Amino acid sequence: MIPIALSLLVAAAPAASAAPLVDAAAVVPGLRLDLRYATPHNVTGHALYAHARCLLRPEVAAALARVQARLRARGLGLLVWDCYRPIAAQRALWKICPHPGLVADPRTGSNHNRGTAVDLTIADASGRPLPMPTDFDSFDPRAWQGATADIPAQAIRDRELLRAAMRAEGFTTIRKEWWHYDAPGARRHPLLDVPL
Ligand SMILES: [Zn+2]
Repeated sequence: MIPIALSLLVAAAPAASAAPLVDAAAVVPGLRLDLRYATPHNVTGHALYAHARCLLRPEVAAALARVQARLRARGLGLLVWDCYRPIAAQRALWKICPHPGLVADPRTGSNHNRGTAVDLTIADASGRPLPMPTDFDSFDPRAWQGATADIPAQAIRDRELLRAAMRAEGFTTIRKEWWHYDAPGARRHPLLDVPL
């Protein structure tokens, strides 16, 4: 029986790796969505996604659920702007906005294409995003992690609250985007081109 079970597992592996993403809204209680790339309200001015779904690798969604529990104890919650991004959308983004350091070249890919990165902020109990140093996808220097110049003290505190909650689950930051978080071991996973 054991060899048969093992061979079944091996046979099932390719199918499992073809769709290793879960809908985070089904895993994270009360997760708020404002998936900007499913709307024209983003840096490109065009909707790049056919559906507003926050797909992530299962362990990343589970970690976000723990962050959410931590914030809910304060009457707050997460609001996501971008999750998994198909390679096709990465190519479209790069075509409109080919700025290395701000947008990942689709040939090397972004952790968003792996389902291991998430762009998010904190919302209050009614779902309204807290004032942060900048809006999503801002190229302003106030969007940098650790920036303080010309930023209200409360926005700095709330950015740091988000950072502390995310870091407690092992997420890491990048320098120029306060809203972007990479899951632990993000780059170990393959680039995916699963439609949303
Ligand atoms: Zn991002």
